[in-house]
Amino acid sequence: MLLMTPKTYRAQAFVEAAERLGLEVVRVVDMPPELAAHWNVPLGVDFLDLEAATRAIVEFAASRPVDAIISVDDGASLLAARASAALGLPHNSPEAAEAARNKHRMRALLAQGGVRAPEFRLCSTGDDFRDLAARVEYPCVVKPLLLSGSRGVMRADGPDQFVIAAGRLKALLDSIDPSPQPKPFLVEDFVPGSEVALEGVLDHGRLKTLALFDKPDPLDGPFFEETIYVTPSRLSQDVQAAIAQCASDAARALGLREGPMHAELRVNEAGPWLIEVAGRSIGGMCSKTLRFGTDVSLEELILRQACGLGIESLDRERRAGGVMMIPIPEAGILRRVEGEAEARAAPGVEDVQITARLNNPIVPLPEGDSYLGFIFARGESPDEVEAALREAHRRLRFVIEPTIPLLPI
Ligand code: ADP
Repeated sequence: MLLMTPKTYRAQAFVEAAERLGLEVVRVVDMPPELAAHWNVPLGVDFLDLEAATRAIVEFAASRPVDAIISVDDGASLLAARASAALGLPHNSPEAAEAARNKHRMRALLAQGGVRAPEFRLCSTGDDFRDLAARVEYPCVVKPLLLSGSRGVMRADGPDQFVIAAGRLKALLDSIDPSPQPKPFLVEDFVPGSEVALEGVLDHGRLKTLALFDKPDPLDGPFFEETIYVTPSRLSQDVQAAIAQCASDAARALGLREGPMHAELRVNEAGPWLIEVAGRSIGGMCSKTLRFGTDVSLEELILRQACGLGIESLDRERRAGGVMMIPIPEAGILRRVEGEAEARAAPGVEDVQITARLNNPIVPLPEGDSYLGFIFARGESPDEVEAALREAHRRLRFVIEPTIPLLPI
């Protein structure tokens, strides 16, 4: 069973992987059952109504037994854990899945487990921001508990910036949930250093690192848009081993034991710092950069692990690979994309996919939740791949018509 949202980028790769493995797939989509019936989706459930969604999955499985339940992206990791627990399938516990989703719970468990991670403080949008600003350490990072993709994550270097950042986060959280209750958020110490992403699979609590990506663009804020990911990492073997150890300790601290894991870490003189762990695979279309064994995709590997088919012999291919998530430079209406063919023709570039829709509004971070698209490259070395991605990006031109801000009357 694959749990997915209607607008996921990730489903196709999983469905193709299942076909290659000869596995039957049941798509469970976050949509009303009536709509699911209309679109020929076998099961439509509300991902936010965990009780009812779990019940629907259990009922479905009574007549069509399932071997594994996988959440294709973050949205249903908790539901996958709950439904698996109800059906007795191997999976992360619901508590671990919740901890991997909720940044405060995660920080608390990491601290308890002795994993190096930033100092944090739980705050509320109901707090007096001026008063808070006088009490936090700088530089700091404010962030929501439940969003992803760096949405709402902002750095502040002093009290004035803090008040602005907290106000902006409050406005974002209120726009998502207009109820008048105050919403919790985190304030953390800013951890300087270079950033990496580790992609792995957990099997009975043991972490197998599948790929370590360097993120060569500095991520120093004030916002933290992901851009380039390149693998293999150019860090020394010792540092890479310390990173893998830190990620493995983090999984243990959270209680994650089964399935894909994606971790973001920062590295400085003190060693690796755990920024985030998620019980899912790499987001967006980024998994296209990864190939294992002769020609096995990351999704195939995840399905193999989930169905007990064994993944031990599968190592990442020798060549370097990378992806650039093309950030949204400004808010507006995307009118045109120029230079796509030229970007595709850049040496080393495998593909360019523009995912933002023309003539639709686009919103940059920290409020936005999408990219303009993705550039994929492969090469003999990480340097070559990074250069290919930068060159392709240079060849692209996005024509964005600025939206006129609505002035208060
Ligand atoms: P999300 O789940 O939305 O991606 P993260 O907590 O992973 O949120 O933060 C997104 C990015 O913001 C991180 O990849 C990192 O670059 C930056 N970041 C977050 N927290 C910190 C921190 N405490 N110190 C330094 N950078 C941070």
